[in-house]
Amino acid sequence: TSDTQLKWSKAACRFCGTGCSINVATRDNRVVATHGDINSPVNRGLACIKGYFLAKILYGEDRLRQPLLRKKNGKYDKEGEFTPVSWDEAFDVMEEKFKKALKEKGPRGVGMFGSGQWTVWEGYAASKLMKAGFLSNNIDPNARHCMASAVAGFMRTFGIDEPMGCYDDMENADAFVLWGSNMAEMHPILWTRITDRRLSNPGVKVAVLSTFEHRSFELADMPLIFTPQSDLAILNYIANYIIREGKVNKDFVGKHVNFRKGVTDIGYGLRPEHPLEQQAANPGAGGSEEISFDEFAKFVADYDEKYVSELCGISPERLQALAELYADPDTKVMSLWTMGVNQHTRGVWVNNMLYNVHLLTGKISEPGNSPFSLTGQPSACGTAREVGTFSHRLPADMVVTNPKHREISEKYWKLPEGILPDWVGSHAVKQNRDLKDGKINAYWVQVNNNVQAAPNLNEETLPGYRNPDNFIVVSDAYPTVTAQAADLILPTAMWVEKEGAYGNAERRTQFWHQMVDAPGEARSDLWQLVEFSKRFTTDEVWPAEVLAANPEYRGKTLYEVLYRNGQVDQYPNSDIEEGYRNHESEDFGFYLQKGLFEEYAMFGRGKAHDLDDFDVYHQVRGKRWPVVDGKETLWRFREGSDPYVAEGKGFEFYGKPDGKAVIFALPYEPPAESPDEEYDLWLSTGRVLEHWHSGSMTRRVPELHKAVPHALVYMHPEDARKRKLRRGDEVKVVSRRGEIRTRVETRGRNKPPEGLVFVPWFDSSQLINKVTLDATDPLSKETDYKKCAVKIVKA
Ligand code: SF4
Repeated sequence: TSDTQLKWSKAACRFCGTGCSINVATRDNRVVATHGDINSPVNRGLACIKGYFLAKILYGEDRLRQPLLRKKNGKYDKEGEFTPVSWDEAFDVMEEKFKKALKEKGPRGVGMFGSGQWTVWEGYAASKLMKAGFLSNNIDPNARHCMASAVAGFMRTFGIDEPMGCYDDMENADAFVLWGSNMAEMHPILWTRITDRRLSNPGVKVAVLSTFEHRSFELADMPLIFTPQSDLAILNYIANYIIREGKVNKDFVGKHVNFRKGVTDIGYGLRPEHPLEQQAANPGAGGSEEISFDEFAKFVADYDEKYVSELCGISPERLQALAELYADPDTKVMSLWTMGVNQHTRGVWVNNMLYNVHLLTGKISEPGNSPFSLTGQPSACGTAREVGTFSHRLPADMVVTNPKHREISEKYWKLPEGILPDWVGSHAVKQNRDLKDGKINAYWVQVNNNVQAAPNLNEETLPGYRNPDNFIVVSDAYPTVTAQAADLILPTAMWVEKEGAYGNAERRTQFWHQMVDAPGEARSDLWQLVEFSKRFTTDEVWPAEVLAANPEYRGKTLYEVLYRNGQVDQYPNSDIEEGYRNHESEDFGFYLQKGLFEEYAMFGRGKAHDLDDFDVYHQVRGKRWPVVDGKETLWRFREGSDPYVAEGKGFEFYGKPDGKAVIFALPYEPPAESPDEEYDLWLSTGRVLEHWHSGSMTRRVPELHKAVPHALVYMHPEDARKRKLRRGDEVKVVSRRGEIRTRVETRGRNKPPEGLVFVPWFDSSQLINKVTLDATDPLSKETDYKKCAVKIVKA
């Protein structure tokens, strides 16, 4: 095509974990149109309002084009003004600060925060730089705020991460149960599939459980509002009902399930006897013990209609109707959940309890019977989880505390034996505390707006960023709240300005090519990571004894050891598909993305995480792993669908040594903070359809910004009346930690019950995370953004 003709190429959507397939049109080095791919099995030609305006996220007026360093009198100064500098000067100062922190504090003195918005190879390159280069596990993705409870839930119950089912379940289920998920706004394209199924089949039922009414209730046959935190008790009631009514699938349970009690077991450990030993899971590790089915039945027997109804506020009859959806052997049930379950002080338990009710009835791993954990980030699964960018993880579900897992990683990464650190790095909230306490002094944030996203930000996040001992680098496309709190801002290429890959919620990996150039001097996160690695030698960052024992590594740059290592750099640029450019590979002289992907793929092949060859993904609309002999897997753990299940087994939960999943006996536990006389309302935070997460991209799209310009506090009219407030009044939302000003909304899309208010968090002019509580789940370290106590007063 000539430069003035339209050129259409394929990409995955930049926003949510649904992973809609998008066709992108470019002309004259500019994205000019996008639409949902009609041939895509995910979105079938549709895109939500955010996907519709994807092209415009690239062209906001304040797009960053040059590195910006805080300077005073011509040199770096923490109190200085942001001043344009060259990449060389930016990296010079950054190098000095990282080296100083490493020298003074060792590997724990540096940290990195990323996200499931990194492409697969960017997350992989970042994890390698931190864990294998700086020997620091202080790297975490924002999936910690989002999916960490789901991950720990999968590991405890199944010993392997990510959903067993797929989106095809939506055309096969007879009942859908939403737990703490407003799919109508957060996963709108998947919601169209459920809506289609429900409206075309009158017998199909939709139950929506939430602490407040939202748009998903419009389709609900069973609208169920429950008291915050009582989901724990409701799920135990359902288990009790199934047992009491004799609806346990005894054959399935007898063959495929173990019962355990104990609340601390996180499911990671070594199991050398198992063929998939490189994956984590020793069900005995960390404190749980086996119990019998009868003991489990006795445990949940306490959760009867009367007790649970009083706790949750749902009538016994409606609880029973909900439980019957799960209990009825003729009803195929798909449970779907997201942040209401994961952002919970007992989010891991709720995940486990959801699996409990599916396992008791054998409603799992087959078309339409599917406990399905939805994701929020475009590559929460593909990057944050599978690549292993968590502070405790290595690729393919391996963990840093496991000597065998470190050994495997050292082998694949061509590193000296015993070099990888065995300590669990600081998780998201702890990183902010470490910055505040001066334990981490050099810190790099990529693809994230953590100052807006992190909880209790006045007390726990901002102090660390502005601590005079710390140097904070933020790579972003726009001057977010986080970038403005930094010392150095690096301008970043986004989405189709670079070659990329994302993995969505149904294990589908999708690729795209670079289609246009980034503006000004903006460079991809990958380029920044790899280029920065040239500034360190092994002598500067690795222990002397390791180098003495492995002299061949002496004096090499981290670039040479990690990326130009004879393995990553073996693919030539001539492999790049004709008609496409690739800036990173042009700069480094080899096909960097392909090398990183193929090295990463080694971790999962033959171990139930198989990915197809790099080149295949550029030709197809994604494939769901494990991909064996070119064939994707729709339902894992099921004979005939999952190649890892042996003939004659029926089902096999092979993440566990004995092939059995675990049903956990777990109790109800009260929330970390509840309303009282002074702070008399519950606060829940969340999102809106038009804005994605912190709004740093969608608020730059005029149509989306105009549609929802500001956050509001949604409250019940009676709560407003009692406080002498009217719709549109300016108020303060106040907690023990901070306050914001906003306006009252008593109508509209969210209708909280009396006693609860809802505030979306996309609006950087109203930082609701000044108000939220930084209580985390003790197992997953994920924050509970859905429950804290506030009061509303007239401003
Ligand atoms: Fe699809 Fe999510 Fe993108 Fe909307 S934001 S088009 S639902 S991937």
